[in-house]
Amino acid sequence: MTTISCPTTGERLWRRLSVRHRIILSLVLMVVPLLLLAASGYLLFHRLALDFDATVRQVSDETHHITRLQRLMAQAPLALHDSLHHLHSDEASGAFPELAARIDSAFADAPGTDLTLLGASASLHETATLWREVTRLYGRLATLPDPVGDPAHERLRTLLEAAEQKLIRLHDTLQLSIETKTKETAATRRQVEWLIITMTSVALLIILAIGLPMARSILAPLKGLEACAAAFTAGHLDQRIDVTADDELAHLANTFNRMAERLQENQQRLEQLANFDGLTGLHNKRNFLDYLRGELERAARYRRDFSLLMVDIDHFKRVNDTYGHLTGDAVLRQVAKTITECVRENDVVGRYGGEEIIVLLPETKAGGALVIAERLRQQVMEQRTASEGGDEQVQVTVSVGVACCPTDASEETALIAAADKALYQAKESGRNRICTAG
Ligand code: GH3
Ligand code: MG
Ligand code: MG
Repeated sequence: MTTISCPTTGERLWRRLSVRHRIILSLVLMVVPLLLLAASGYLLFHRLALDFDATVRQVSDETHHITRLQRLMAQAPLALHDSLHHLHSDEASGAFPELAARIDSAFADAPGTDLTLLGASASLHETATLWREVTRLYGRLATLPDPVGDPAHERLRTLLEAAEQKLIRLHDTLQLSIETKTKETAATRRQVEWLIITMTSVALLIILAIGLPMARSILAPLKGLEACAAAFTAGHLDQRIDVTADDELAHLANTFNRMAERLQENQQRLEQLANFDGLTGLHNKRNFLDYLRGELERAARYRRDFSLLMVDIDHFKRVNDTYGHLTGDAVLRQVAKTITECVRENDVVGRYGGEEIIVLLPETKAGGALVIAERLRQQVMEQRTASEGGDEQVQVTVSVGVACCPTDASEETALIAAADKALYQAKESGRNRICTAG
């Protein structure tokens, strides 16, 4: 019997569901982690990109202001020189105040306390203080007749230089800040990549953990069905599937088992009809002759003996004529049964003709065959069969012809003819007796 039960717990759990529900549920279970993975991956990347954009925009903005201030501050020494040296020339004296107005405006536009980097705001504030001191000193110098020689001029130049240096350092610091942010973003991106790889692996493992038992829960029974069908095709009609689940495949297996049952029954019935006689249940002539041919071959190959009994009911026509054919049939059945009971298990009893019964006795020489023939003759004679209606007991006798292989003949037709001839002699010499071909 082929078994299609579930070998694993996962598979057993799956087989509690119908195949349709199994497929739907496994698809949902496999798709959900993938959707979650896709959604979380998208959100993480999106957030990362937004953070990065905002930081870059802010730092670039701040750097732009500082660069502008730095550029203007770099022009300040020359403008100061022009203004102080040509105080009384209208054209040149306006260079520094003009630049100062632009630097003031640049300081006003700068982010001030909102600078990204901690300490950068303080540094900018200090630069602004220095600048205010520069403009204050310039205001004082501008009122003097010879500002260039005044000690305040030197102090102003020192202050300007200090402000310029502060802006350079501030610019460098912001530049460093951009690099640091870029590195941090790259590290976060790597973390997100790892997270996505991990989540993908987990999703794949979940798919495998769900998909494999699910696939097995369908494929294993199908394999069982296939194996059973193959065995069935090869002629093993006793093959059955051991059904343990209650799904569509189990129903299919049950249908298969019922079909196998039917086919086996039909085949047995056909075999019975093809090989056995319907009235007596004995081997029919064709089947008996197959056994006889086999025994002849065996006897020839291994130099073995066997005997043949040809049994014929005496005056059977009279039984039919006196009690009717139904009684005749009953008598014939009874004689067949008696003869079968008189011989061994491996002896073959067949219905050769109307009321002629033939017996094959393997490994039996003439002496043994005569003993058996006598036994069955006695038994038949002692037997009574109730007539149709049951009011009379019918008694019949049989005549038996015995032929032995290889003593009397070692070929099919000749051996049967020898037994037939001996039977004829038994009939001729008074019936209810046994004659041997020899
Ligand atoms: P003998 O002693 O010479 O053998 O006489 P007999 O009457 O037995 O021989 P015969 O060959 O004249 O008759 C055989 C009879 O057996 C004729 C036939 O109607 C009957 N018979 C053959 N087959 C069956 C059967 O299946 N059922 C019944 N009831 N009778 C059968
Ligand atoms: Mg007869
Ligand atoms: Mg006859």
